[in-house]
Formats: sequence, C-alpha cells, structure tokens
Amino acid sequence: MTPPSIQDPKYVKGIVTSRRELGAELWVVRIHPESKVAFSPGQYATLGVPVGPKMIERPYSIASSPYDDDLEFYLELVPHGKLTPHLHLVPVGGEIFIRRSTKGAFVFDSRSGHPHHFMVGTVTGAAPYIAMLRKFLTDLREGIAPPKRMLVLHAGSVSEELGYIGELSGAAREHSWFEYVPTISRHWLDPHWTGERGRAEDVARKYLDAAGFTGADTTAYLCGNPQMTENMKGLLKRVGFEKESVKEELYWPAEKTAVT
Ligand SMILES: Cc1cc2nc3c(=O)[nH]c(=O)nc-3n(C[C@H](O)[C@H](O)[C@H](O)COP(=O)(O)OP(=O)(O)OC[C@H]3O[C@@H](n4cnc5c(N)ncnc54)[C@H](O)[C@@H]3O)c2cc1C
Repeated sequence: MTPPSIQDPKYVKGIVTSRRELGAELWVVRIHPESKVAFSPGQYATLGVPVGPKMIERPYSIASSPYDDDLEFYLELVPHGKLTPHLHLVPVGGEIFIRRSTKGAFVFDSRSGHPHHFMVGTVTGAAPYIAMLRKFLTDLREGIAPPKRMLVLHAGSVSEELGYIGELSGAAREHSWFEYVPTISRHWLDPHWTGERGRAEDVARKYLDAAGFTGADTTAYLCGNPQMTENMKGLLKRVGFEKESVKEELYWPAEKTAVT
C-alpha cells in the first residue's frame, strides 16, 4: 500500500541519477527532482524515504549549484540512525522524496561587506561551501565577480572522507581568490598523506594568520560536527571575531557528539 504522505504536495519525488561511494559509510548522491527545487547555496533540503506508513525525513545541506537541475548531497551513514540506513540503500534509479521548500540561514554573507570568508567544515559539513563555490564559478563565467577571498578548511579523519578534494584543489589552483586546505586527524591510517595533519581547530589558526584574516574583515562559517564548531568559536573569539562575524550550522546536537 502506498503511504499517504507520498501524495502530499509538499514533496517532490526525486530519482537517484548517480552515486559516488567514498567508503562504506560515506557517499555523494545526485537526485533529479521531478520539478525544480530552488535554493540559495548554503541552504538545506529535507529528504525523506517512506518506511512503512511513515515518511522519515532529515535535513541535508545541498552541495550542487542552484543553477543545476539536479540536487547533490554529501551523506554519511549513521549506522543506528532512523533515516540514513534507509537512504543508504536507495540505488541509482531509486526514489527519494524532497520537501519543495528549502531552508536555512547558513548562506554566503554578502551583507557585512567583509572581503574575506573563512569556511570550516567537517566531512559532509563542506557541502554548503561546495554549493557556494560552484555558483561563484558559474557566475564568474558570466562576468560576475567572485568574493575577494574564500578559504575552505575541510577536515576528515582520513583522506577518503574528503570527497571533493580533486574539485576543490583544482579550483584553488585555477583561481587565486579561492584557497582549499584539507586536513586529516588520523594520518597514521593514511601513510601517503602529505597535507595538513590534525583537526580543523588544530590548523585553523595557522591559516587565519597566514591569510591575514581578522575579525574586522572576515566572516567565519562553521559547519558539521558540533565539537568542532564549539572549539572553533572559542578560537575565533580569542583572536577577535565578534559573534556577528561567525555563522554556524550544527549537524547534530552538541551533547550527543561522539569523540572521533
Ligand atoms: C541543517 C542540517 C544540515 C545537515 N546536512 C547534512 C549533510 O549534508 N550530510 C549529512 O550526512 N548529514 C547532514 N545533517 C545531519 C542529518 O540531518 C541527520 O541528522 C543524519 O543524517 C542522521 O540521521 P539519522 O536519521 O540516520 O540518525 P538519527 O536517528 O537522527 O540520529 C541518531 C543519533 O546520531 C547522532 N548523529 C546524527 N548525525 C551524526 C553524524 N554525522 N555523526 C555522528 N552522530 C550523528 C544524532 O544526534 C543521534 O544521537 C544535517 C543536519 C542539519 C541540522
């Protein structure tokens, strides 16, 4: 029997058009919605999978450009979670439901006038920055100027979690206004890794200082693991960032953080 919620006009049906596996518990999925889902880069969509009579739903930051007809998501399996074990089973050609209305205030700061943007994400927490970068790159081809400087600090445990390292490193090589710093905390599991070692908060200060970013001219963005956002907020406060210059998006509640 078809669950009644699927008929609900608040959902758009989406078909999975591709999957890229980044390991057993991490993947990138592209979904073609049956009608266009509009959003601003940095916002999230609510994805749902019908399980029995219920639609199980969770919010996910969109990684694709808003100019793209398909939506892309960078997803992590939470083995005992309610939704991700079902989401993880949806194959190419399978269906995922999407709420028509996208949400969120974790968007690019074009209000403060700050020329510098320091963006920190743990694993899937880089998704909002990927959407922003992709939009800026398309805009640039149309003659619209990108931000003066945008630095993405992307942290994972091991390099295979850094699912956009090729694309982001390539963009950094091509565009002087964009910098990409990947870092891993379990470097002993990754003997060929030559990049930064440590958590985001371990290497952030070095890059803030090297870039010359200060609280007066920079907006900081923190996304993903709540322990990282807490530590980063402390660090940013110590180096003079006011609350108004720090944006954050927590992917799960702080008190439930597991140490990774
Ligand atoms: C605005 C927003 C955007 C988000 N964007 C993304 C995204 O782009 N990609 C993505 O993978 N997730 C994202 N999340 C997290 C996502 O919404 C779900 O919480 C996550 O997928 C787990 O769902 P679940 O139903 O499987 O687990 P639940 O049943 O909801 O959770 C089970 C337990 O795991 C904890 N938990 C949830 N996520 C994690 C995690 N990643 N690591 C460790 N513990 C966790 C929960 O706090 C809870 O205690 C986002 C969350 C928010 C609020």
